[in-house]
Order: sequence, then C-alpha cells, then structure tokens
Amino acid sequence: MIAKIVLLFLVGMGILGILGKLTVPGAKRLSDARCRSCGRFTFGKPCSCKGGRS
Ligand SMILES: [Zn+2]
Repeated sequence: MIAKIVLLFLVGMGILGILGKLTVPGAKRLSDARCRSCGRFTFGKPCSCKGGRS
C-alpha cells in the first residue's frame, strides 16, 4: 500500500514538473490562439467576430 502511495506521489510530482515546464510556452500559445479583438479561442481560424484577425 505504501509503495503505491509513494508511486502516486512521484507520478504527481513528475506531472507537476512537466506542467510547470509547459506553462510558459503553453500560455504563449494560448494567447496566440486567441482572437485579439474578442479574446475567444480561434486556434488559427479567422474569428467570426467583427475584429477577427485578417
Ligand atoms: Zn474575435
């Protein structure tokens, strides 16, 4: 049982570390994927709002 808990703890720490590393570039990508006018996520597609990026 304890071994399982330790393993879960280590996995959790690993995931946290990976997330921590991915946070900065991930945030940049998210801001890039957002419409600059309305802030919705467009993921490269032109936004349907008036100010969608050309
Ligand atoms: Zn928009």
